[in-house]
Amino acid sequence: DLYNKLIELKGNIRVFCRCRPLNAEEIAEGASTAIDFESAKDGELIVRGHVSSKKVFKFDSVFSPEEGQEKVFEKTAPFATSVLDGFNVCIFAYGQTGTGKTFTMEGIEGARGVNYRTLEELFRIIKERDGLFQYEVTVSVLEVYNEQIRDLLQTGSQPGATTKRLEVRQVAEGVHHVPGLVEARVTNLNEAWEVLQTGSKARVVGSTNANEHSSRSHCIHCVMVKGENLMHGECTKSKLWLIDLAGSERVTKTDAQGERLKEAQNINKSLSALGDVISALSTKTPHVPFRNSKLTHLLQDSLSGDSKTLMFVQISPNENDVGETLCSLNFASRVR
Ligand code: ADP
Ligand code: MG
Repeated sequence: DLYNKLIELKGNIRVFCRCRPLNAEEIAEGASTAIDFESAKDGELIVRGHVSSKKVFKFDSVFSPEEGQEKVFEKTAPFATSVLDGFNVCIFAYGQTGTGKTFTMEGIEGARGVNYRTLEELFRIIKERDGLFQYEVTVSVLEVYNEQIRDLLQTGSQPGATTKRLEVRQVAEGVHHVPGLVEARVTNLNEAWEVLQTGSKARVVGSTNANEHSSRSHCIHCVMVKGENLMHGECTKSKLWLIDLAGSERVTKTDAQGERLKEAQNINKSLSALGDVISALSTKTPHVPFRNSKLTHLLQDSLSGDSKTLMFVQISPNENDVGETLCSLNFASRVR
């Protein structure tokens, strides 16, 4: 169909940029905005640095602060269809802490995000295809923190707890597996959502500061779909990864020491490894450095081949954040 043709023409990597609104505190302080959305319809975003230097970035879509969850999901929904058609899909939210990664993926009360809406769309299509296809859906919830994979559906799973460390193993050429990972079978949207919420809750248990912990780890939801075409008997197996990445803000040695510095270095390592991998895939570089971080190793099968990747680059409109904003936009331009 047309959508898949477009994807083919443009490659399998898409980048959407989303800017959060100024918050009440910023408005009270009289903060000014550094971002222009006048050509957002053409996928262009303009960052006004100083009067003389204006930088233009181009993305597959640009969402201004006024555009809500529905608008964002309109452009994201086709990826759900792809999963049911047998494609692996990775959807990431990248950006500085506080720019709306969790808002975009998880959503908030009354404004559901990509995770919920994608599951809703999956189960809607499964129902629509009833009688033609049969699907089996399982979900897993993981976290990568300090280059360690933690299973959030494993009972007793707590940050820092001595639960079994999970490792990525290659079980066949191009097939990677995480032995021991809990995969929960779900048959409808409510069940799926409940399992994902259980995982999200386990994530913060035991951490002294839930927000800080979540901004320093990658939160990963994986939806595995087995499909069978009931007319031809053909089977498909695909994975959908929904990933709320750790905050991309730069941390220097002067800001952090000890454990905090180690965390920051691990975050840098995995985010730059992710950038390297996606950029190598988009330029069709023969060697793709999947092994440089746990995250890219884990996602190896789902990033390569004819997989589809969507990266949300989340930014702040605040002039005071323009340094981090430019870093995020440059990162995103590199992977596109
Ligand atoms: P992050 O996960 O990147 O650290 P959050 O998702 O926690 O950022 O967002 C920070 C705050 O901004 C939250 O209170 C969130 O609800 C709000 N927010 C983020 N993006 C939007 C948006 N597009 N519209 C309204 N509020 C937003
Ligand atoms: Mg967050």
